[in-house]
Amino acid sequence: MPDCCHDPAGPLSWKVPLLRFFRRSGPLFPALRAPLSRSHACHPGKQFLSRAVLSRPALSRRALLAWAWGGLLLLGTALPLRADLVGTFSSLRTGYGSRNTDKATIVSGPVAVNMLRFASPGKAWWLSMGGIQFKVTIEDTLALAINSTFSRLQQLTPVYRRAFLIVSEGTKDGVAFYSTLGGAAAHGSQDYLNLISAADAFVISHEVGHIFEQRTRVTDTTVLDRWEVAAQQDNISVSNYGNTVRHEDLAEFAYVYALCVDAGQARLNELQALSPRRFALWKMMVEFNNTPPEVTDFRIINGTPRFVIRTIAGYRYRVLYQAGLAGGSWSPVNQTWADGTGGNITLTDPVLPLPAQRFYRVELQ
Ligand SMILES: [Zn+2]
Repeated sequence: MPDCCHDPAGPLSWKVPLLRFFRRSGPLFPALRAPLSRSHACHPGKQFLSRAVLSRPALSRRALLAWAWGGLLLLGTALPLRADLVGTFSSLRTGYGSRNTDKATIVSGPVAVNMLRFASPGKAWWLSMGGIQFKVTIEDTLALAINSTFSRLQQLTPVYRRAFLIVSEGTKDGVAFYSTLGGAAAHGSQDYLNLISAADAFVISHEVGHIFEQRTRVTDTTVLDRWEVAAQQDNISVSNYGNTVRHEDLAEFAYVYALCVDAGQARLNELQALSPRRFALWKMMVEFNNTPPEVTDFRIINGTPRFVIRTIAGYRYRVLYQAGLAGGSWSPVNQTWADGTGGNITLTDPVLPLPAQRFYRVELQ
């Protein structure tokens, strides 16, 4: 699914976050604890005071309004404002990636190509960095030297580099630089990572959120639904831009997570404490993309098929089968799910005697 977005420090949105706020927090007192912006803190304060004052029948309507607004202003200034996650960790932008030692080098190129966006003419290179090889493509109309792209790629936190591989698969353009993206700084999906020349490592960190999320969702179809629940339960905003829609909330979290990974364990722990459910889910998605689930060994021992599966802690696994590949549904060989451990687990097909032919696949959730 394509996805577009702007810089993480994108425009403020007022109406949408307010609606989300009421849906998340409900009226009155829970709302007073809500960690959003000043506009959110004021509105429930008004509700609270209005109800309290309305129990005094002797006051005129005008007096009630005066009380309410007076109280509103008072509350608006007195309520402590809880910073969102981007605000809390934005100081970590200074020095981001400065300890990364891997350098990008050209393996091959340039090769003339028609880029995926509007078949625009461009040049493609293969680069090597930190043991991986990936593609970088630059639109011909953009005056950007290939060497000028290196520093932002080197700056990205290494656990996000897998995104460069994902967007370099097959006929994809890799990290693609365009002279314009219609006003956006970047577009990120598992099919492309499009950037304008001003897009830096912070923008890329955000786009990796979209890339990893979409790649994970191919296998783990409910992960974005679970993300929405996690964000509600964590009860803290990532950023105003993240408040607009759940996949931007995720991408903004990916950006903050990258800052904290780069800054070290203490800041990572701090992020985990502030937003534990998002943290657990994103950590799992990062791991999923760096070590995709894989059947590392399959053999039949004493007539019993045995599967060794590389797993991720937090996911559950089971083996499905069907007799042929001409259609029909897959059935689990065993109704019980096995918990991922972060290492290898062994599953078997217990049905004996085995039929002459059986096809298998591994499912996770
Ligand atoms: Zn985005």
